[in-house]
Amino acid sequence: MITTKVLRHKAKYFLVVFFVISLSLWLAGFSYQQYTGKKKNMVLIRLVVGPLQVNCFILADEKTREAVVIDPGDDAQEILNVIKDKGFKVKYLVITHGHFDHVGANKALKDATGAELLIHEGDAPVMASASRQSQAFGMNTTSSPRADRYVKHGDVITAGEVSLKVLHTPGHSPGGISLLEHGMVFTGDSLFAGSIGRTDLPGGDLMTLIRSIKTNLMTLPDDTKVYCGHGPATTIGEERKENPFLNAESGFL
Ligand SMILES: [Zn+2]
Ligand SMILES: [Zn+2]
Repeated sequence: MITTKVLRHKAKYFLVVFFVISLSLWLAGFSYQQYTGKKKNMVLIRLVVGPLQVNCFILADEKTREAVVIDPGDDAQEILNVIKDKGFKVKYLVITHGHFDHVGANKALKDATGAELLIHEGDAPVMASASRQSQAFGMNTTSSPRADRYVKHGDVITAGEVSLKVLHTPGHSPGGISLLEHGMVFTGDSLFAGSIGRTDLPGGDLMTLIRSIKTNLMTLPDDTKVYCGHGPATTIGEERKENPFLNAESGFL
């Protein structure tokens, strides 16, 4: 026969187990939301700038209006108009790499917003020669100021809820970087929809680029949205399947 005491003990035991399970489930759900970034309120704006049609991205915290501008390549006034219209406070100008088509509005944006200019040290000399590079293409790009700070692989650049993790993806240029947010990655000229960056410019190297992409980009989940330095957006899964440099038939695997 079961006594009342035993019953009470069992009830207590059951309640503790129930409480622990509920708490674990709640915590798991909470961390899942954090991981997937579902709770983030961000605004992403793409502007196509300059004669080489560079994608300049503005990523901003919807509430605090703090923002990061990625690759202000040209058309400074257009970028500044958006920033003013939306009331963004630009904290950083982040440069995926120093080629002239990605840095032409650096000076104007820095002067107007006071934002810090960030680049990987490996591409600092490339950025310093932007004006000269553009002349070789028959264009005339405004020289960029020097970077305020160098970023390296693993660094995280934050502006309000925006947090961009730096991935060093050399090959198109020595200090090329990609920038990872929850569920999205900005790849500069490393990876494009259906192609990869050219490697015939000074400091470029095909096998280095393939290795960068395989190690740092193709390891991301298939549904990761890819925002490229030129052309349309894609996903990691799509490139894994269709990109002639990266799929099973490429010969690079
Ligand atoms: Zn480039
Ligand atoms: Zn480019």
